[in-house]
Amino acid sequence: MRRVILIVATAAIALALAWWLAALPGHVSATVAGLSIEAPAPVAVIALAVFVLLVHLVLRLLSGLLHIRGRIGFWNARRRRAGGDVAVGRSLVALAAGEASGARRQADRARRLLGDTPQTLLLAAEARRLANEDASAAQIYTVMAGREDAAFLGLRGLFRQALAREDWNAAAEIAQRAESAHPGGTWLRAERAQLAVRVGNWSQALALAGPDAPVADFATAAAEAEGDPVQATRLARRAWKANPGLTPAALAYARLLRRSGRESRALVVVQQAWASFPHPDLAAFALAPLTDRLARMKVAERLAGKNPDHPESHFLLAQETLATGLTGAARRHVEAARRGGLTQKRLWLLLADIEAQERGETEEGRLAQRDALRQAANAEADPTWRCQTCGSVYPNWQPACPACHTAGHIRWGDATHLALPGPE
Ligand SMILES: [Zn+2]
Repeated sequence: MRRVILIVATAAIALALAWWLAALPGHVSATVAGLSIEAPAPVAVIALAVFVLLVHLVLRLLSGLLHIRGRIGFWNARRRRAGGDVAVGRSLVALAAGEASGARRQADRARRLLGDTPQTLLLAAEARRLANEDASAAQIYTVMAGREDAAFLGLRGLFRQALAREDWNAAAEIAQRAESAHPGGTWLRAERAQLAVRVGNWSQALALAGPDAPVADFATAAAEAEGDPVQATRLARRAWKANPGLTPAALAYARLLRRSGRESRALVVVQQAWASFPHPDLAAFALAPLTDRLARMKVAERLAGKNPDHPESHFLLAQETLATGLTGAARRHVEAARRGGLTQKRLWLLLADIEAQERGETEEGRLAQRDALRQAANAEADPTWRCQTCGSVYPNWQPACPACHTAGHIRWGDATHLALPGPE
């Protein structure tokens, strides 16, 4: 309805205009360069209108011709961008599928069409890495590392290459540059933590430790490497608090306390560690300064009292009671340890010592000793430090396994009954 009204109104205005134009009185005359033109007023008005329209059309045409090159460039760029986007997509798919040559071809096409953007450079470098063309990939990563908009991506690539060829110094230097290019990145933090483990930089491994990291192991190793006793004590205390059952953590802390004259505090630490996880080294530490047998017995009893039913407590008491000459008590503790599950070589050797001390060189004594020694020969091996990941065995605890490089997995135990003291 509105359209009808509009058409009728427009027609009425056009009709009125035509009438008004036709009714215009007078003539228009002009003389240009000796040429006289005379026309009635309505014709002159229409001619003028047609002239203005023609000038407008000519100007539009000229403007279109002037911008045609720009328009062609615009369409070309649009076509290139669309082609480049397709190549980027195909390159990503080829990378994900592990097709090195396809990924490289599409990445190079994307680079030709879109130029050297961080995205196309990264694809080109990753495609070369997939094709094991490390030198070529490194070249592109280096170009990226020098650009402000792609520095982190380039350094990340170079860092991974340094890790792969086990060039720890280069990796550490690149990691530092990557940290300044993009501070606080989660990926970089995890990679730097791994690197710190590989180079044995335990304070850095501790500083970069994530929620699942073996903090007690890192802090223990950091405390042992620390030169400043105050800082070392702080680290050792942190380790012991993080995992009181980790013997090396308790021992590192207790040793530092003893060195600073805080002997009773050192013994409390060792006793608490024994309560969590009895280990022969804890007893050795507590008994080391004592030569008097009764004094040693007292300390051993206090220690064993913290975990009275544990076979390790009975084994310690068996050793100390035997040293004081109480063979009957020693035998009872050996039996208790055996009932508790301690059936390793060391138990039978101790029993042989008890037999030797109790029965001496009698025929019965010799037979009992021989029997105990035979049991020792067939018994399972004594516990040791063992990697829970790869099973490698070590005489001493280490924060990370030198064989499989897993951190915090070297624990005390035997092959079948590996002890797994964890943080409380
Ligand atoms: Zn291992």
